[in-house]
Amino acid sequence: LIELDRAHLIHPVASYRGHEKLGVRVLKSASGATVTDATGRQLLDGFAGLWCVNAGYGHESIVQAAARQMRELAYATGYFGLGSEPAIRLAAELAQRAPGDLNHVYFSLGGSDAVDSTVRFVRYYWHAKGEPRRDQFISIEQGYHGSSTVGAGLTALPAFHAGFGVPYDWQHKIPSPYPYRNPVGEDAAAIIASSLAALEAKIESVGADRIASFYAEPIQGSGGVIVPPRGWIKALRDLCSRHGILFIADEVITGFGRTGPLFACSEDDIVPDFMTTAKGLTSGYAPMGAVFMSDKVYDVIADGAGNAAVGHGQTYSGHPVSAAVGLAVLNLYEDGLLDNGVRAGRRLMAGLESLRDHPLVGDVRGRGMLAAIELVIDKEKKIPLPAAADPSRRIFDRAWENGLVVRAFAQGVIGYAPPLCCTESEIDAMIERTRKTLDQTLD
Ligand code: PMP
Repeated sequence: LIELDRAHLIHPVASYRGHEKLGVRVLKSASGATVTDATGRQLLDGFAGLWCVNAGYGHESIVQAAARQMRELAYATGYFGLGSEPAIRLAAELAQRAPGDLNHVYFSLGGSDAVDSTVRFVRYYWHAKGEPRRDQFISIEQGYHGSSTVGAGLTALPAFHAGFGVPYDWQHKIPSPYPYRNPVGEDAAAIIASSLAALEAKIESVGADRIASFYAEPIQGSGGVIVPPRGWIKALRDLCSRHGILFIADEVITGFGRTGPLFACSEDDIVPDFMTTAKGLTSGYAPMGAVFMSDKVYDVIADGAGNAAVGHGQTYSGHPVSAAVGLAVLNLYEDGLLDNGVRAGRRLMAGLESLRDHPLVGDVRGRGMLAAIELVIDKEKKIPLPAAADPSRRIFDRAWENGLVVRAFAQGVIGYAPPLCCTESEIDAMIERTRKTLDQTLD
């Protein structure tokens, strides 16, 4: 498999970081929070795949729902006024649970095209409102909004820009709130004030009547699990409202119980104009994303019969098998999975806090089952691990040897997003294996 992989399979991103020289790690099977590789080695998945397998692996009710749907109706397009029962029911169930008036759902195939879809919907909205000059988009440094070309431009991670001619000149950024490394320090009020000032300044320089929308993740995931202070997103949302700027909450990671509730926006007490989701929607069992749209936006861009008047859509939008999976997963969330996630999340945060005494651990942060530790060589001065030693690669490898899958970010941040079904003893084992990995990283 390793030979065939090396010869024929492209691993996006990973192939550029030397993985192809070392060979791929092949997973063979999985159950709950445990994955088994092709050699039979078992590991605890501290990252739920790629922050997505919230329900854990091998869940029979999800398997049954997919099989049933494949037998009954394997495919139906969402185009041309056609549809399928699971897609319609899932949209209705989601709308019922979404914050405020986010009553309309467009199904994408994942997170990147969910974000892409919002860019098109937003542009159409302003055209329909007679304000086509509103064509400028703002997002945040360290943010991640997918790897489509447009999404990569909203994304603020340099690896996604190099050589692609993005960000486009209509894509602007403001600094990340990043409490651990914020020039204004870690005080919540100061961080919120500085983000507001940065957004005000950007609005002024670009022109308030030119800005179409603003994108924010409630917690910045791929940028290193950056947890803004409480009240931060609400303050930014209010500022956008005052300027008539559409606010898009990218909940591709935070949605579906990752931070505790079904949606982080509810906890943060905001109703965005759009909310993008994917990952936990189907818990990774089938590809699907969902864009939520408010009544206010929908009334402008749709013709009232449910057919959004935008030339946009894909063959697999609203795929009935993915939708059936989504319905089965939603049942699980409400049948104890969210509650278990909250309990396990408390254990995870307490466990990670207990690592603060380790000489390498500079910061511990997170909410619910979304967390990270940031490693430094000098806690006082917050000096990062030397990049030359490729710390993230080494940490990932050592954790793997210790039976733990984590995400190691380039800057020496180790990310955690375990399945919400984890038991407390599985969480404890993840912490113990992390400590062992950190001790070896000191060597
Ligand atoms: N937005 C956010 C906030 C994400 O974290 C991601 C994926 N990590 C995406 C969009 C893109 O999702 P996908 O990889 O499913 O295309």
